[in-house]
Amino acid sequence: MLKDHVYDIFFPAKCPLCQRVLSQDETDLCHTCRKDTDEFPKPKYKISFVADYRAMWYYNGKVRHSILLYKFYNRRSYGAVYGRLLAMKLQSKPLCDYDILTWVPVSRRRRWFRGYDQVELIARSAGQELGTPAAPILKKIRHTKPQSRLPDFSRRKANVMGAFAVSDPKQVAGKRILLIDDIITTGATVSECARILLTAGAKEVHCAAIAALNKDKHR
Ligand SMILES: [Zn+2]
Repeated sequence: MLKDHVYDIFFPAKCPLCQRVLSQDETDLCHTCRKDTDEFPKPKYKISFVADYRAMWYYNGKVRHSILLYKFYNRRSYGAVYGRLLAMKLQSKPLCDYDILTWVPVSRRRRWFRGYDQVELIARSAGQELGTPAAPILKKIRHTKPQSRLPDFSRRKANVMGAFAVSDPKQVAGKRILLIDDIITTGATVSECARILLTAGAKEVHCAAIAALNKDKHR
């Protein structure tokens, strides 16, 4: 459509990892970033209450920069790209069979300030690609400090304890859940969400994130 064409001229798609304008034969990522960005391997350590998890990339360098732009500098369009790429990773290396795809929500306050829930956008895009629409299962019932400002696992765990609730426990009873988050560092947030989901009757909880840290010392 002409409208799309005009839009592309003024707002050309950029690679979310290096911010370079994509050429016509590049989709979502530029060739260089697709080749050079290390995939996150199968994790070595467990996260309490989480059956298994995967991340797409290591949380460092240009991946970290990209996610910071996405979360704090309004690069909203990155969410759809992250979601599509995460879905492709999950299709090529299936994590689990699941009944429900959902995400770690932000508080209403943070959503209001940012204008969007950054993980919801990723989950909705991934869900569309996987053919399983993302369902709003969890809600954040109190505002918490950003986990990144807290130095260790214990404090991060305390920060999120009791911060989430399941909207409708009947929806999750006996179900296998795929929980999407943006970054897994210590795993405290996804662990708390998984605990709440299991308490509500979920059968098992698997997690998938855009990026993760692979550091035992944080745990
Ligand atoms: Zn790039």
